[in-house]
Amino acid sequence: MGLLSSLALIFLVGEVHASYLDFGIPPSNATVDVRVFNVVNATLINELHASIIEPVLPGRGAITFPFLAFLVEHKASQKRVMFDLGVRSDPLNFAPSISALFTDGIIQVESPGRDIIELLQVGGIALNSISAVIWSHAHFDHIGDMSKFPNTTGLVIGSETGTSTYPQFPNASLLESDFAGREVTKLNFAAANISFSGLKAIDYLGDGSFYLLNTPGHLPGHLSALARVTPTSFVSLGGDTFHHAGEARPRPDFQKMYPCPAHLLEETKASISTDYFWSPKSRDGAFDLHSRAQQFLAISDLPDSFTADAVQAQVSLDKLATFDSDGDFFVVVSHDISLRESIPYFPASLSNWKANNLKERVVWNFVDKANPAFLFSPM
Ligand SMILES: [Zn+2]
Repeated sequence: MGLLSSLALIFLVGEVHASYLDFGIPPSNATVDVRVFNVVNATLINELHASIIEPVLPGRGAITFPFLAFLVEHKASQKRVMFDLGVRSDPLNFAPSISALFTDGIIQVESPGRDIIELLQVGGIALNSISAVIWSHAHFDHIGDMSKFPNTTGLVIGSETGTSTYPQFPNASLLESDFAGREVTKLNFAAANISFSGLKAIDYLGDGSFYLLNTPGHLPGHLSALARVTPTSFVSLGGDTFHHAGEARPRPDFQKMYPCPAHLLEETKASISTDYFWSPKSRDGAFDLHSRAQQFLAISDLPDSFTADAVQAQVSLDKLATFDSDGDFFVVVSHDISLRESIPYFPASLSNWKANNLKERVVWNFVDKANPAFLFSPM
């Protein structure tokens, strides 16, 4: 590439590269460290997969998701919080409406008996050093087993998050032990006076290092987090705002900021089925990824979908996706299969993602047919 065209490319990329400041996020030197646990991988069979994302192509029914949990540590005060916990180690002790998913074999956990409590303790993180657990939402695969935390650990939830418990409510998915003897804080986003990319935000630690964002739709009260891991870079913890990278990507801004590597552009011509996916420059049997503007997958709106309000969930997803298209943010949702083999796990830190060019290396993983996230042709 000649000097002039190199300069033109830098100029073009520079033009679409917004900075975190353009999202209305105030500058701060206060940071947190983010470390990730893959609590377990769990396989969902056909019906359940289709109740999360669509389309499900023939032969692609069973899907194995990671269940991630995040340890967030405030650099200055060493204060620790957990964002989501994954699934409890004894799923048969969930409320009956949930334990049935396990006894019926609809969900199969790869490492039964393992939970975040064990992973934290083995990792030398004392449970009483965790001041609060934040649930993105109250689905079983995010709430762990709160009864194993000391009662000095608070629980933080969205104000719309349902708190009905079994057995008082026979169909409830939560248990009294999820709340018993513990301070429970309901976040009031309605009173929040800051918002980033249209998402109401609460400055959880008060110094700009860790924000909670209102991302309803998947469930009422569903929330996300924005962790400032260096003064100018962030990890966006998206909970279940989306489940698969193909629900967020591609988008035109994303394609400009993160052009698909040439070898994947070439591979996807044949690997992505033009019977199911199309783009302006596709031809029958030859998919063109570069001209694809629309995300590959959609949030399921089936009647028994895991998502309470698919329209509102899409609005939250579209807003969160603006971070995904920006160079200052690394977006991680709780079940992103495409990242399963590609991100550093505890005790390593995710905080150096930008210096390590991690985002450039992983964001197109999901269209690589060798990646477990690839779902774009029948089997
Ligand atoms: Zn969920």
